[in-house]
Amino acid sequence: MASSFIVLLGPPGAGKGTQAEVLTDKLGLPHISSGDIFRENLKKQTELGQKAQVYMNRGELVPDDLTIAMIHERLSQPDAARGAILDGFPRTPAQAEALAKMLGEMGGQVKVVPYIAVPDQELIERLSGRWTCRSGGHVYHEKNNPPKVAGKCDVDGSVLYQREDDRPETVSNRIRVYSQQTAPLIEYYHSHGLLAEVDGTKPISQVTDEMLKTVQEHLK
Ligand code: ADP
Ligand code: AMP
Repeated sequence: MASSFIVLLGPPGAGKGTQAEVLTDKLGLPHISSGDIFRENLKKQTELGQKAQVYMNRGELVPDDLTIAMIHERLSQPDAARGAILDGFPRTPAQAEALAKMLGEMGGQVKVVPYIAVPDQELIERLSGRWTCRSGGHVYHEKNNPPKVAGKCDVDGSVLYQREDDRPETVSNRIRVYSQQTAPLIEYYHSHGLLAEVDGTKPISQVTDEMLKTVQEHLK
């Protein structure tokens, strides 16, 4: 059977990472977050990390050629052979085309694109209260989804921090960049019959239920 890829689409702060954590557990597919890979490279001060940092700090997109090469390398790892949950990639029409080509060559396909819809005002509130774990990228919210012990990740006990690009100035630019460069993918995937809109304003567990139902229908 062709391997199954799920693309999580939605603005920054919609809940892609939060939902990906559950999907990865339930479906046994790896969670591949382009933002996490960039941050990992930044931590290790690789050449890719240094190049990406400039764009990330401004809330802009890392150029397509760098991003596509990085994802190509990640999808070539053995754990992605059966499929993956893609979070934050693709973010431009050129990336979506490159993904379709890569998967075609690997014998895989995008099976469904859950689009988590959340209005801008709510995104700003979510990102300003987001706390992220240093080692595994697990995410919390100081009000909506607090960790059991303040400042510590429930999953691996590592320290929680607030991302540099979650500051209000950068957040508004990220939302603008999303509207201009990524939102066209809603129509792109809709026209391919793959889009499944999910109401992202509901509590986390309700979004999960709706998402799992849709995803499981498409994976049949
Ligand atoms: P994304 O990966 O799309 O940028 P995250 O999954 O990191 O978004 O979620 C952004 C913030 O919003 C986090 O602090 C998370 O705990 C919180 N959050 C996620 N989903 C919901 C939800 N349905 N309701 C309220 N807060 C949420
Ligand atoms: P995220 O963790 O998904 O919020 O991404 C954080 C930042 O990483 C973004 O604001 C971009 O600068 C960069 N980034 C992540 N994914 C991509 C992508 N697919 N294309 C370009 N830049 C990306």
